[in-house]
Amino acid sequence: MEKFQTDGVGCPKCGSVSGQMKHGLTSAGSQRVSCRNCKCRYTPKKKQYTLEQKMLAVKAYYLSRSARAVGKAHGMKGDTVIAWVKFFQNQEKAQQSQQKSEN
Ligand SMILES: [Zn+2]
Repeated sequence: MEKFQTDGVGCPKCGSVSGQMKHGLTSAGSQRVSCRNCKCRYTPKKKQYTLEQKMLAVKAYYLSRSARAVGKAHGMKGDTVIAWVKFFQNQEKAQQSQQKSEN
């Protein structure tokens, strides 16, 4: 197998940047990568967003309530915006339950 250059973005499952091997192509022609550390296979994402960009998009979503419009304005898919909204919601929940157990 051929080594895959991760571009600093490693395996989405274990976060490892080493041991990433090329593993054929998807039906859409994207590179598939297999991780030798956790044995998972994934399609590396071309676009990477910073936490700041994600937070901006989520804020915009709360204002407009339209993931599609936000995605269009920020150059991403509406699905991506929804995924981030859920991610931040889960984080908030986790923080709240942590505070409860502390009291
Ligand atoms: Zn992995």
